[in-house]
Amino acid sequence: MNPQDNQTLETCPACNVSITADEKVNFAVGQPGTRAKLYARVCQFNQKPGCINQQPELIGEKTEDDDFRSAEDLIIPGIHDT
Ligand SMILES: [Zn+2]
Repeated sequence: MNPQDNQTLETCPACNVSITADEKVNFAVGQPGTRAKLYARVCQFNQKPGCINQQPELIGEKTEDDDFRSAEDLIIPGIHDT
């Protein structure tokens, strides 16, 4: 009966990110985000077998902020901090 606070619940082996029990996605680079963000930025391009983040009902609503606004957004960590 451990608290589920920040524990990894799932890992997407295709995209190499971990998703915690509270639905936070830890990217290899930059700030943690949501499943929607993960999908918008990684999974939809990867399309690899084994990707665990391909179900719309889990991904949820994508917000404008989830999409790329510029190429630098992903490449430079910290530039997109809120
Ligand atoms: Zn994935």
